[in-house]
Amino acid sequence: MKITVLGAGRCVTGSKYLLEWKQFSMLLDCGLFQGPAENRRRNWKPLPFPAKRLHAVVLTHAHIDHSGFLPRLVRQGYRGPIYCTKPTAALLRVLLPDAAHLQEEEARYANKEGYSKHSPALPLFRVADAQAALKQLVPVDFHQRTELHPGIVFRYNRQGHILGAAAVEIMTKVSNGKRKTIYFSGDIGRYGVPILKEPEPYPGSDVLFMETTYGDRLHDPRDPYEVLSTEINAGLKRGGVVLIPAFAVDRTQEILYMLHELMVDGDVPQVPIWLDSPMGIEATALYSRFTEEHDAEMREFYAEQDNPIFPPTLQVTRTTAESKKLNHVSGPGIIISASGMATGGRILHHLKLRLPDARNTVIFVGYQAQGTKGRRLIEGEEEVKIHGQWIPVKAHISSLGTFSAHADAQELLVWLGKRERDPEQVNLIHGEYGAQQAFAETIKEELGWDAHIPEIGDEITL
Ligand SMILES: [Zn+2]
Repeated sequence: MKITVLGAGRCVTGSKYLLEWKQFSMLLDCGLFQGPAENRRRNWKPLPFPAKRLHAVVLTHAHIDHSGFLPRLVRQGYRGPIYCTKPTAALLRVLLPDAAHLQEEEARYANKEGYSKHSPALPLFRVADAQAALKQLVPVDFHQRTELHPGIVFRYNRQGHILGAAAVEIMTKVSNGKRKTIYFSGDIGRYGVPILKEPEPYPGSDVLFMETTYGDRLHDPRDPYEVLSTEINAGLKRGGVVLIPAFAVDRTQEILYMLHELMVDGDVPQVPIWLDSPMGIEATALYSRFTEEHDAEMREFYAEQDNPIFPPTLQVTRTTAESKKLNHVSGPGIIISASGMATGGRILHHLKLRLPDARNTVIFVGYQAQGTKGRRLIEGEEEVKIHGQWIPVKAHISSLGTFSAHADAQELLVWLGKRERDPEQVNLIHGEYGAQQAFAETIKEELGWDAHIPEIGDEITL
């Protein structure tokens, strides 16, 4: 077996690994490179193989940095199966057309403004490509053994990172009748957070590919309920509106769940909540629907009262007209909208309107990457440019570091801790190089393992 790292090698986006075994070849994840322009340019590079000749794609989860290259792959001629878990398939039906729509919008905008070096600027893929990719999805159950090719099977184990997220265990037959097992962690979720079941422990394998996004860090140890209620109560006291920019998938549902509990317990007053994100609304419906993915607390909460991620004061605003009506709301109230880093979406309209008033509050509940408006706001800029207009920042801005969908360094060790055997080979993937080196040292000290940190383009022969 030969494995080529095509993305998420010493970086966190573009997850894509080519596995070749005899005549058979497949991709493990098919993600888009995101972030700064030099990252995104990688999406235009030709693949080192003809897409047509690939036999299978196996996805770990629906995040665009793990799935967003699919429409491009299909556009380039891939017609084979795209395996994923059932909840992942449902999420992809929401996420992929949206990603394609963004690509088309960007190209249209670049042509209008004439800022692209290419004339005309083209989208990486179109909505029609995304629709075609969706037709090739083959949803499978967790733990079900699926044959990819004679002599090679795989199965999914739950990873708790977002709805449907999985680790992939690939088993191949080798010449002496024995099997070799390769374990891809995918993105590893956290322990003790609401809604989803916890990550299933690493069982042991011959080879391990493991994510290390937070390999050098520990999450804020404070109680997230306390931190959130303190900020929200302070915001409501200011008399205006509390704006929460949140990722549409997972973070929005986590915040809704917590607000529900805080309101039931009387820790936060029962003010109106508006969810103003079409994708957030769809994702919330999916998080409600896949009840077999819910953890024990979520089930208990569900049995006792209404849907835990649908607080009684929640109103959803699907249409643009409904969204615009929120401009007349003077508070107290909470508006949750996307995108989480204020890089696009309806949140921009709300920020434009609410930032100039000191009675309003903006609470960021996720990581804010360098170069985003979210980052500029949490760094205290006095003015930000939104839709071409400079907007003064008078609203109170806060940022809560307690929320993350990724295991931290300690949780990564917990995930490794219940294995039945040690891997012969460990590859650390999906992390900034510094975080990966730190985690390589940690596992050397704690477990005595020598870890390899492959770069994009590296080939690993097993
Ligand atoms: Zn992810």
